[in-house]
Amino acid sequence: MLTQEPKQNLVPVPIWRCRNSECKAFVREELAASPSPACPLCNGPTIRSVKHLPELVKKYKKPK
Ligand SMILES: [Zn+2]
Repeated sequence: MLTQEPKQNLVPVPIWRCRNSECKAFVREELAASPSPACPLCNGPTIRSVKHLPELVKKYKKPK
């Protein structure tokens, strides 16, 4: 029996996540505007963490 697995490659990505446990917001470190960004949702403090996310792949757009 074959198991369908998503073809996305999950990689550990350094992120900043909100300190508020009720707030699910996080920012990829590579996309963060500053070395210690504020939460994009509640503007609260963030802590450094690691999250397994799909690898950032630039999608090729087919021309019309
Ligand atoms: Zn937040």
